[in-house]
Amino acid sequence: MSLVVVGSVAFDAIETPFGKTDKILGGAGTFISLASSYFAEPKIISVVGGDFPEQYIKLLEKHNVNTEGLQIKKQEKTFFWKGIYHNDMNSRDTIVTELNVLENFNPIIPDSYQGADFLMLGNLSPVVQRQVIKRFKKRPKIIAMDTMNFWMNNSPDELLKTIELTDVLIINDEEARQLSKEYSLVKAAKKILALGPKYLVIKKGEHGALLFDKKEVFFAPALPLEDIFDPTGAGDTFAGGFIGYLAKNSDISFENMKRAVIYGSAMASFCVEKFGTEKLIGLSQKEITQRVMEFIDLVQFNYKLRDLF
Ligand code: AMP
Repeated sequence: MSLVVVGSVAFDAIETPFGKTDKILGGAGTFISLASSYFAEPKIISVVGGDFPEQYIKLLEKHNVNTEGLQIKKQEKTFFWKGIYHNDMNSRDTIVTELNVLENFNPIIPDSYQGADFLMLGNLSPVVQRQVIKRFKKRPKIIAMDTMNFWMNNSPDELLKTIELTDVLIINDEEARQLSKEYSLVKAAKKILALGPKYLVIKKGEHGALLFDKKEVFFAPALPLEDIFDPTGAGDTFAGGFIGYLAKNSDISFENMKRAVIYGSAMASFCVEKFGTEKLIGLSQKEITQRVMEFIDLVQFNYKLRDLF
């Protein structure tokens, strides 16, 4: 089923304890599109400047990402973000955020994107996210959304109005606690689900991800990895794998959402193994299936009660 992705397409400069990069391809919309491209043919809505290399657009297109909705503002500059990770690789400082073209982003939905079944709203201003929803003539069947602390601090009312319109909210544990003002993630989930979404995914970085609906909860671990070079975009990649998997088989039961969490986690585990988007390019279906199998092996408890006592 058709999938539309909205999010930043950016230049990132990243520094981790393992090395640093100059301006490379990044942005939440890029990570989501590349990850979801292994399951669906995503259509991206975003904006870049005249400095954005044609080769990056070609790369997206090679991954079957429809770029008709990627605006190019020839006289302006592409969004730029620079981050430096601490030694634990879990925390980072944002050193530079140059909004550039994103400052006055007016999302335009090409006619060929109308009628989409799945919409993934990457982390952007909640006002822009809501504009996108409103500009669909027919509401997509599933609207999933990511956000961050910045919007909770700076536009809380706008954020709540947008969250109310979505079906799935995908945020990390710190964000869930801030949004709900609850420490317990179970209590946080109850409060957040009362805001409108039917499903909530709470990402816990190297500690996995939780999926909630009003009645059930599911947990998937993160794969213990030997090499972690760069966590940038892991959350977006998770979201891309998650929504891509749902769009592929268009089943939105809780059972299928559980599988989507595992696929999202598998895609995120690839993302961190190299800098930026590098590892997300040209993966094979076999590699993805093998990674998913590793997840399944990791959490198999095939014991009978008598084996344990
Ligand atoms: P994550 O590591 O999942 O938080 O995502 C990192 C990506 O988000 C980077 O590729 C950045 O280009 C992008 N990003 C960082 N800050 C923003 C922002 N304020 N708006 C949109 N995208 C952003």
